[in-house]
Amino acid sequence: MVADRVIIVGAGMGGLACAIELAAAGAEVTVVERAPRPGGKMREVRVGESRIDAGPTVLTLPWVFEQLFERAGTRLSDHVRLQKAGILARHAWTDGSTLDLHADRQRSAEAVGALAGPASRRGYLAFCDHAQRIYETLQDTFLTQPANGPIGLSQRIGLGRMDRLMALRPFDTMWDTLGPYFPDPRLRQLFGRYATYCGSSPYLAPATLMLIAHVEQAGVFMVEGGMQRLADALETVARSLGVTFLYGRSAARLQLRHGRASGITLDDGQSLEAGAVVVNADPAHVFAHKDLKPEAAGAARSLSAVTWAMTAKTSGLPLVRHNVFFSEDYAAEFNALFARGEIPARPTVYVCAQDRDDSGAAPDGSERLLMLINAPANGDTKTLTPQEIRTCQARATQLLASCGLELSPDPEPAVVTTPRHFNGLFPGTGGALYGRATHGWSAAFQRPQAQTPIPGLYQAGGGAHPGAGVPMATLSGQLAARKLISDRGSMRRFRPAAIAGGTSTP
Ligand SMILES: Cc1cc2nc3c(=O)[nH]c(=O)nc-3n(C[C@H](O)[C@H](O)[C@H](O)COP(=O)(O)OP(=O)(O)OC[C@H]3O[C@@H](n4cnc5c(N)ncnc54)[C@H](O)[C@@H]3O)c2cc1C
Repeated sequence: MVADRVIIVGAGMGGLACAIELAAAGAEVTVVERAPRPGGKMREVRVGESRIDAGPTVLTLPWVFEQLFERAGTRLSDHVRLQKAGILARHAWTDGSTLDLHADRQRSAEAVGALAGPASRRGYLAFCDHAQRIYETLQDTFLTQPANGPIGLSQRIGLGRMDRLMALRPFDTMWDTLGPYFPDPRLRQLFGRYATYCGSSPYLAPATLMLIAHVEQAGVFMVEGGMQRLADALETVARSLGVTFLYGRSAARLQLRHGRASGITLDDGQSLEAGAVVVNADPAHVFAHKDLKPEAAGAARSLSAVTWAMTAKTSGLPLVRHNVFFSEDYAAEFNALFARGEIPARPTVYVCAQDRDDSGAAPDGSERLLMLINAPANGDTKTLTPQEIRTCQARATQLLASCGLELSPDPEPAVVTTPRHFNGLFPGTGGALYGRATHGWSAAFQRPQAQTPIPGLYQAGGGAHPGAGVPMATLSGQLAARKLISDRGSMRRFRPAAIAGGTSTP
């Protein structure tokens, strides 16, 4: 029946999760994806013979994926092998100091104490408790549920739980809230960086985003064979449930019958009929329609990035899997990014050393690296010239050198991705990688919900509620599927899917 047929536009994490949920509930699902393979931002690129993750590298909240695979009657561990990292990340500053954060909170506390003294050690442990309280308050009331505004959230948390509500600190900035915990400026900078995990500035984001630090503390995982294997596994599971994938095809127009979504027209003119359509991108960009407003424009956009996927020899500071090299002036960096819309002159640099694990063992010879700096999401209006890209790379490697790491890139050219490239891959975004920025107390409530203004048209992905990042985009896909199923109570083998939170305490 056409009524039970659903078209999903986009095979990013949200689209794949939505496809699995819907197919498990009995829908006949077709996924249309303009790229040649699944994953969206979760992509790998080739540099010579090497395959390098050029999208997300930090995998957290594995319970989200375990639960999704269970919905499909299988297990995550049957499809991908995850290894828990003992060291979450190595952090380095230009004064020569370094700090490792560990999966073991007490070990991290000792490291923090050794870097900055006993007051910082106590501050770190108090901060961890605070971040954990925020996460635990929001997991089942916000992250795994449709958002229903600040009053609805307060009711879900329970008006009698004022301590929990107060701990969210939505009206305080993350930066101000970190101050009393971390008098040492290096630590305040380190923990402020978690705002960038959803493309935001620590100076503008609400303190609520401190929950991201807890998410990472609860476990960072490495996917054997690279992150793309996770997207491939979701596709395999979806296919096993009967989902059809059309790659290299773009959705061009939305079809409407009596004001309700009734299918799509592809870019080659082919028409696909359906009872409902889910868009794993900004629907206003995919389908021009007067009732669809763009998700984020101009100042509301989250960060983009410039990335270099490369092979190189390294010397000096030993790398672990995840490494962050901090600039000296964080305020200037975020001022450049958000106030002036420029790439900072001295950027903080992230390096993912993809051949490294906790052993710290250096590979023989060259190794696979993804180097990333934050950039404004202006890829629809600005093109970086080759000279500007070389300047960015020189500034990033100078910063690494100031922190003690020397890079000797191989002759094989790096694959460089700029905001312009990201905008080409994910049109309508300007290259923003995380939807709209989470700035101010109300931003989290302003993200689009699963239901769009057009009946039968739904939205899923990192631009929508509950937000960006691989697990959140996955939850968003599940929420869209749940909403669609409840709207169409007639789906043949409708089995309601509750998303229950997993354990979060390390
Ligand atoms: C460089 C980088 C680093 C990141 N680091 C991390 C990290 O370490 N940890 C983390 O959790 N998250 C990270 N993220 C964020 C994370 O990757 C995203 O939040 C998440 O993958 C987004 O998934 P999504 O469901 O929004 O779909 P997307 O990945 O945005 O995919 C949408 C899909 O829709 C397709 N599409 C769009 N329009 C059409 C059309 N008209 N027709 C057909 N198909 C269409 C696109 O081709 C794409 O495949 C990072 C992202 C990037 C780019």
